[in-house]
Amino acid sequence: MDAIGSGIWQAKGPRHGVHIVVLGGVHGDEKTGIDVVRKLHALFTAGDEHLAAGTLTLVLGNEEAIRLIQRGTSVEHNLNRLFTEKHLAGPVLDFYESRRAHQLAPLLASANVSIDLHSTSSPSSPFLPCAFSPRHERIYRWFSCDLVLTDPDYILGGERATTDEYVDSCGGAGICFETGFAGDTSRAPAVFESIKQVLADVGLIIPARPLSPPEPDYRVYRIVRRIFLSPDGFSYAAKFPESFQPVQKGEVIGYHGTRPEIAEEEGVIVFPKARELWHPGHDIFFLARRIR
Ligand SMILES: [Zn+2]
Repeated sequence: MDAIGSGIWQAKGPRHGVHIVVLGGVHGDEKTGIDVVRKLHALFTAGDEHLAAGTLTLVLGNEEAIRLIQRGTSVEHNLNRLFTEKHLAGPVLDFYESRRAHQLAPLLASANVSIDLHSTSSPSSPFLPCAFSPRHERIYRWFSCDLVLTDPDYILGGERATTDEYVDSCGGAGICFETGFAGDTSRAPAVFESIKQVLADVGLIIPARPLSPPEPDYRVYRIVRRIFLSPDGFSYAAKFPESFQPVQKGEVIGYHGTRPEIAEEEGVIVFPKARELWHPGHDIFFLARRIR
């Protein structure tokens, strides 16, 4: 593999084919994705695997934050919210994540498929926070996961902002995979194997044996609300939730000071941010509705 930038490697096969970008560490404290990207890099660099066709690009997303072992270089800078039309059309701003987003955007724009590996700040089953469509499913069916969280209204970032949304907007298939709790890297070997199966399925590598694609029966949710931390703070009415914990219509989820946060409809809590990541004006969790 050739280094084509800091923490960016690329290999090209002898024949024309699709371009796949695999990203880990877009958030620097999410170790599973970082491990998987490093293992893929080692696999191709050692010559244990060769590209038969197409292009594979491996990216360690936020290298500065990876060095600092934190989400971003500061709480204000989230690399996975910077792939917006406005930010990418404007000048490079004076912080690392802005430079990195501008550097990664052309790579992502040229990708047929991107796979961005994340993990959550609180315990969670793996899930796929990205679009639910046949072209996306063709890729993520290889992951051991049957839970999809769509966000067609861009409630997560307030606008098109994430790597997968950006790749989708450029005509590719952008995948985001939340591999589980960031404190637990035990799924890294399985994620690594799944990505090898994706690469084989799209013809980038020759599989050791014929592939039999899994056909998961997906549960699909759609994000409907974003809940921010007010200056009064917030306390959950019950114990700290897990992702996809159900809420009933009319249920008091918690209190912003004394003001109750009430579920307007039946749904689930998603992306409950670990308390140490709470900052006034930033989101603390989201609500989603089951659509399939
Ligand atoms: Zn992340």
